[in-house]
Amino acid sequence: MADECRSCGAGIGELHEPFCNRELCPFCRDFITTCECIFQVLKLSQEEREIIEAFEDDSVDPLRSICDRWSAAVEAKGRIPHDRRA
Ligand SMILES: [Zn+2]
Ligand SMILES: [Zn+2]
Repeated sequence: MADECRSCGAGIGELHEPFCNRELCPFCRDFITTCECIFQVLKLSQEEREIIEAFEDDSVDPLRSICDRWSAAVEAKGRIPHDRRA
């Protein structure tokens, strides 16, 4: 099916896998993995910003807790389901 997300396989109207690189950010509608909203929405410090940019291991803290906070913020704002334009 050509309409499925090429990265995670979500169908039209379904949510992407968490941190799928084709998911759109509900804050700016740009791709969520490349936009800058995480820094502004979570008001991250320079130190935390470096941790995100290195993105080494999100199964352990501190990266895990930052990702959890970001997921919660995106969830609260309302995640954008897959759409064929994306
Ligand atoms: Zn996806
Ligand atoms: Zn954004």
